[in-house]
Amino acid sequence: MNVGTEFDVIVVGGGHAGVEAALAAARMGSKTLLLTQNIDTIGQMSCNPAIGGIGKSHLVSEVDAMGGVIGKAADRAGIHFRVLNSRKGPAVRATRAQADRSLYKKAIRECVESAENLSILQQTVEDLTVLNGVVSGVTTQLGLKINAKAVVLTVGTFLAGLMHVGQQQHSGGRLGDKASNRLAERLKALGLPVSRLKTGTPPRISAKTVDFSKMEVQHGDTPCPSLSSWCHEFQPNRQIPCFITHTTPETHQIIVDNLSKSAMYNGAIEGVGPRYCPSIEDKIVRFADKNQHQIFVEPEGLEVDELYPNGLSTSLPFDVQCDFIHSIPGFEQAHITRPGYAIEYDYFDPRALQYSLETKALENLYFAGQINGTTGYEEAAAQGLLAGINAALKVRGEPAWWPTRDQAYLGVLIDDLIRLGTQEPYRMFTSRAEYRLLLRQDNADARLTEKARELGLISDQIWAEFEYRQQAVQNGLSLLSKRWVQPGSSEAKALSAKLKKELVREYSLENLLKRPEITIEDIWPYLSAADVFSDLKFCEGTDWRAAPKITHLVKSQIEIRVKYQGYIDRQSVEVEKLRRQESTTIPADFDYHRVVGLSTEVLQKLQAETPLTLGQASRIPGVTPASISLLGIFLKKHEVATGVLNKPDLTSSCVS
Ligand code: FAD
Repeated sequence: MNVGTEFDVIVVGGGHAGVEAALAAARMGSKTLLLTQNIDTIGQMSCNPAIGGIGKSHLVSEVDAMGGVIGKAADRAGIHFRVLNSRKGPAVRATRAQADRSLYKKAIRECVESAENLSILQQTVEDLTVLNGVVSGVTTQLGLKINAKAVVLTVGTFLAGLMHVGQQQHSGGRLGDKASNRLAERLKALGLPVSRLKTGTPPRISAKTVDFSKMEVQHGDTPCPSLSSWCHEFQPNRQIPCFITHTTPETHQIIVDNLSKSAMYNGAIEGVGPRYCPSIEDKIVRFADKNQHQIFVEPEGLEVDELYPNGLSTSLPFDVQCDFIHSIPGFEQAHITRPGYAIEYDYFDPRALQYSLETKALENLYFAGQINGTTGYEEAAAQGLLAGINAALKVRGEPAWWPTRDQAYLGVLIDDLIRLGTQEPYRMFTSRAEYRLLLRQDNADARLTEKARELGLISDQIWAEFEYRQQAVQNGLSLLSKRWVQPGSSEAKALSAKLKKELVREYSLENLLKRPEITIEDIWPYLSAADVFSDLKFCEGTDWRAAPKITHLVKSQIEIRVKYQGYIDRQSVEVEKLRRQESTTIPADFDYHRVVGLSTEVLQKLQAETPLTLGQASRIPGVTPASISLLGIFLKKHEVATGVLNKPDLTSSCVS
C-alpha cells in the first residue's frame, strides 16, 4: 500500500535523537515525517530521568544554541538542578537537571506537535526501500510504503533488543516496548557492519517504603541553574531534594555470592557494556577493595512514588535484587516497583558513516543516536540534530555541514565516532575535548548560533536575544577597559578591602577584574548596567533588561572572558595551527610510501584509516607528531594537498 504523500525527510524513532532530527529538518523547511512505534513514548527517557552532567551538558548547550529542544524540555521538567564542578574552571563546569519523567515527555511532545512542516505517524518501520545503493523510503508493519528523499534512523536500543533479568531473557527494545527485529535483520542483510553492545538500568523503588532519615539529603542549587540559555524558555521549577546512601559489605557479599546468576557474568550477554556507567556487579568485581559505593536516590517525578537508585544498575535475578536492595541503609523495607535489567542490542560501526552521518554504503540513509554505539540522551540528541540538518541540506541540494573539534563538543563526538569507531557505549566527557577552554557551556551560543541561523534553525526571537546578549557582552568588555579607578576614591576603598591591600595608583576595571580576589559582582556597580545594556535593540514588545537571566549570562560571560583571556588566547593559537593542518587535505588515493621516513606502523595506520586531512591523520592513535610533520612537508613540497574537501567549514571562527 503506497501512502500518497511524499516526504522530504523521514525520521524513524521518537527518542532523543529522533526528536531533534525531525525538528531540525522541519525547522529548515523540509517536509518531515516522524515515524515511531508508539506516539505515547515520544521523548521517553529509557533510563535515568536526568539531563546534563559533565561533558553532557556541553552537548545540551550546543543543541540549545542551534535551536534544539533537549535543554528547554529539561528546564521545563526539571525538579532538581545542580552545577557540577562549580569550584573548578569554566571549561569543566557543567549543569545537571533531574527531571520529572512525565513532564519531560510532555514538554517534548508539545514541541513536536506544535512544529511546522512536521507530521507524526505511529508505525513500526520494518524495511527500507533501496535501489542501486540509494534509499528512497520505508515500509511499515502495516505494509505502508512511504517515500522520502532522506531517511534518518534513530531506533536506539531497539534493534534485536534482548533484555536480561538473571537467567531470564525477553525480546524487547526496553521495558514495555517491542524490539525491532525485522528492521535489524534487513539492516544486516544490507551488509552494514553490525555488532552488539549492552546497557542496564537499576530497579525502581517505592518512595513510601524508604526511610529517608538514614540518608544524606542533597538539595538543588539556589539560584536555580538552567540547561537552556534562552531567556523566554526558562521557568524556574519547584525543586525537590535527592538523597544519598551507600552499599554495605552485606550488599557486596550478596552480589558476590550470586554473580553466576548475573546475565553479565554467566555468559548470557555477548555485548560490551558502558565502562563509565557500570552495573553494580561490575563495580563490586572491578573495585573489590572498596567496601561501599555511593547511591544517589533520585525522584522520578513530582507526583509519582517511584525512585531511581542511581548506581545500582543490575542484571541479577529479581529475588537477588530484592535481597541486596534491603541491605542498603534506608532501603531495609523497600518495595521494588520495577526490576532492574540489562539489554543488549545491535549497533552499527560509526566508521561506516560520513561526517554528515549519512551511511557510506547507502545514499540518503542517515544514522543517529544509540544506533551509532553511543549512550546517553545528550549524545543522541546532538547526533539527531546533526543528522536532521544534513538530511535537510541534502534535500536542498546543499553541501553537508558539521562542526570541527575546535568548534563544538558535537564536532569531537562525530570525529571520535567516525574516525575511531567504538567498541563500548561511547559517552562524552570534557576530557575528550582537547580545546575545552574554547568549548565551554557558557559560550555555546557564541560558537554556534550564527551558523544555526544561517542554516535556518533559529527563530527571529532567539536571534534577537542572541544579538542582544552578544552586544551587551561587547559593551561590558569595552567599558571595563575604559573605566579607571582612582586611588582614594570610594570605588578604590571598596575594592582595596577585597584585595586586602591599598590601591596606590589608578587601575582599569578590566585590570582589577583579572585579579583572583575580585569578581564581576564587585565590579558591576561601577560598570553601570544601564550603560552595558544601553543603545541595544529590543525584540518588539520585549525588554530583555527585565530578565535577570540575561544579566546573569552577560555578567558571567564578561567575567570569564576577562579572567581567562590569557589561556583562551593560547588555545586559540593552537587552534590556528590545527586549522592549517585541518585544511591540508590528503587525496583519497595518496600513496604514503612516497613519504620517506614513515615507520611501517604509521604507514599501515594511514593506509587503513585513509584520513581526509592532515588534522584527521594527526588524531589516529599511534600516528606521531613527527610523522605528521613529515607528511605535512611532503604534501606542501609536492603540492599534493588539494585544498578543502567537501567540508568541514573551517572558515567560521571559533568565538570564545
Ligand atoms: P531511544 O531513546 O531508545 O529511542 C528510540 C526510538 O525509536 C523510540 O521512540 C522507539 O519507539 C523507536 N523505534 C525503535 N524501532 C522502531 C521502528 N522499527 N520503527 C519506528 N520506531 C522505532 N544512557 C545513559 O546515559 N546512561 C545510562 O545509564 C543508560 N542506561 C540505559 C539503560 C537502559 C535499559 C536503556 C534502554 C537505555 C539506557 N541509556 C542510558 C541509554 C539512553 O536511554 C539512550 O542513550 C538514549 O535514549 C538514546 O536515544 P535514541 O534516540 O538513540 O534512542
